[in-house]
Amino acid sequence: MFDNLTNRLSGVIKTLRGEARLTETNIQEALREVRMALLEADVALPVIKEFIARVKEKAVGQEVIGSLTPGQALVGVVHQELIALMGGQKADINLATVPPAVILMAGLQGAGKTTSSGKLAKWLMEQKKKKVLLVSCDIYRPAAIQQLELLARQTGAEFFPVQAGQQPKEIAAAALNFARRHFHDVMIVDTAGRLAIDEAMMAEISELEALLKPIETLFVVDAMQGQDAVNTAKAFSEALPLTGVVLTKLDGDARGGAALSVLHVTGKPIKFAGVAEKLTGLEPFHPDRMASRILGMGDVLGLIEEAQRGVDQQEAEKLAKKMKSGKSFDLNDFKMQFEQMRNMGGMGALMDKLPAQLSQAAQNVKVDDKVIGRTEGIINSMTPQERLKPEILKASRKRRIAAGAGVTVQEVNRLLAQFEQAQKMMKMMNKGGMTKMLRSMKG
Ligand code: GDP
Repeated sequence: MFDNLTNRLSGVIKTLRGEARLTETNIQEALREVRMALLEADVALPVIKEFIARVKEKAVGQEVIGSLTPGQALVGVVHQELIALMGGQKADINLATVPPAVILMAGLQGAGKTTSSGKLAKWLMEQKKKKVLLVSCDIYRPAAIQQLELLARQTGAEFFPVQAGQQPKEIAAAALNFARRHFHDVMIVDTAGRLAIDEAMMAEISELEALLKPIETLFVVDAMQGQDAVNTAKAFSEALPLTGVVLTKLDGDARGGAALSVLHVTGKPIKFAGVAEKLTGLEPFHPDRMASRILGMGDVLGLIEEAQRGVDQQEAEKLAKKMKSGKSFDLNDFKMQFEQMRNMGGMGALMDKLPAQLSQAAQNVKVDDKVIGRTEGIINSMTPQERLKPEILKASRKRRIAAGAGVTVQEVNRLLAQFEQAQKMMKMMNKGGMTKMLRSMKG
């Protein structure tokens, strides 16, 4: 998949060798290559345009750090933007509702709806320990109902039997009733697909959606369909309140354009990817892993990460020095720590690297990666003096700061409590030897 992107970018790295920094002129050729590769991968044109513009904006004028060549730095920017294009963060399936959580599967015939329903049932049972009911509303293809029944048997999910002559809406209503009475956590509803978008099909699934009020309406799409997938996605997202996408057949010789276009077109993230025909072949979709796979340049990406870590290392050592010199740890340092956490791959990654006793202390700080940005906002809204001595903050100032950062006063208080925890943690680190800890983090 995306072999061309890898090849073309490898060329880019070579042509940019010897340049001191990325400029509008020297990345022109490189961006042309990226554009060609995306076109060949069947990425939708508006998506390509926006993508190239964003890469250009980020790359031009960027200082090339330490050991990287400008070409490698550009690959780094492309990688980051690929992740962003696919939504950045992993989008989890939402089951938070009064049971049964209904998942409605929509898509064209052959997209992989029935197979994905079975796979999803298995995944929910095994990974989330849910009791799952499988329901087929595809009365037009008896074979589809049988296929789902077989999948239910293979996965151990319960299957809702359909009576002859029942209409989709009747099946759905009866199944919902059944799931409630039998305490199913999740009910997955497979629907009829057609070979192309047709109004009757859209009307039927809209009715099912209105009746079932699903917490998830997943659009199932075949990655091998390329541009067609994008057009179908657009039509479905206009007719139905989709909540996410299941991208199937990523194991095939898909050119992969659909993976990059679908969020842009539907506004909805890919939640699962079909990666094999077998029942275990469904995985939560990770934009970062997918971006790395698309680039296929593990070695270069590794280098970029290393270089980035090197920069963080220098900052961290500065901080360590400051602490050793006896200066106290203030909110400026706290903020810098947050920035470093982000660069090191978030709190989760950092925790793994901390020695056990510190990890325990860090647990108490409870920092969510998403909170990092808000935290910075709060600290930015403080005066330099307040950052040095947060204990001088009065209630009125806290309110002003909260307003300035667009958060609640409670969040400001929470941050200050976290800061106190961190201060304690820093004292511990000082005793244990900061430099030693940093060295262990690098390794
Ligand atoms: P539906 O008409 O949307 O219900 O499509 P099906 O679930 O019947 O799938 C159509 C075909 O695609 C079947 O042969 C499936 O085995 C196959 N299929 C579905 N998902 C995947 C996948 O992720 N990988 C592969 N290799 N095949 C898949």
